[in-house]
Amino acid sequence: MKKITVAVDGPAGSGKSSVSRQVAARLGITYIDSGAIYRAITWFFLEKYGDIDSETPFDKGIKGLDIRQEYYSDRTTKTFVNGLDVSKLIRSEEVVKSIQWVSSDKAVRDFVTTLLREWAGEKSIIMDGRDIGSVVFPNADLKIYLDASVETRAKRRYDEYVGTGKNVDLKAIKKQIIQRDSQDTAREFGALKRCEDAVFVDTSDMTQDQVVNKLTELIENQDSA
Ligand code: C5P
Repeated sequence: MKKITVAVDGPAGSGKSSVSRQVAARLGITYIDSGAIYRAITWFFLEKYGDIDSETPFDKGIKGLDIRQEYYSDRTTKTFVNGLDVSKLIRSEEVVKSIQWVSSDKAVRDFVTTLLREWAGEKSIIMDGRDIGSVVFPNADLKIYLDASVETRAKRRYDEYVGTGKNVDLKAIKKQIIQRDSQDTAREFGALKRCEDAVFVDTSDMTQDQVVNKLTELIENQDSA
């Protein structure tokens, strides 16, 4: 297989991460979870300042921050901040509540974009996020935009939480998803948007396996083009 860069964007709960991990494993390429980087930076600043908002000096704090991510053959990823494994810590409600301040900051976005491009290097990768096709890899070999109805996305998140033993309320999750959609699409830099050259896949009525098959097929067709 020739070197390939696949950008997968879409809103929260559209299935990007689970699907991209599986596609990467199937094709033997690297998966990079860009959302985990924004989460890790949010975690770092929450630890540093206790609370954060639009006035937090992210541009100063971000310099020299050591962030790494490893992708393993069992489809898991681990994210490290200054050597500490924060993979579980970054999945907290606190991180989600404050992430908008970090992900709308220009200095943070530039830092993450540089990092993501460096990581991809000369490898074949599939990377998911919000601005991968529009900002990080505008020349990606293949751009995919995954979407699903708010109801479907909320139910998926709900099932995920319940699966990990958390007690959650479906209505609250739906509200949180709507709020994240508006934050992700409204910001000035790196907003979530559907690129004109992205293949649109509505996953509302598809199983995860069907989406994995569809993406694998798209990549294989692209590879032989
Ligand atoms: O993908 P995930 O839900 O883990 O992303 C968490 C948050 O990180 C998103 O809601 C978004 O605000 C931010 N993010 C971003 N740009 C990306 C990936 C994620 O702003 N490329």
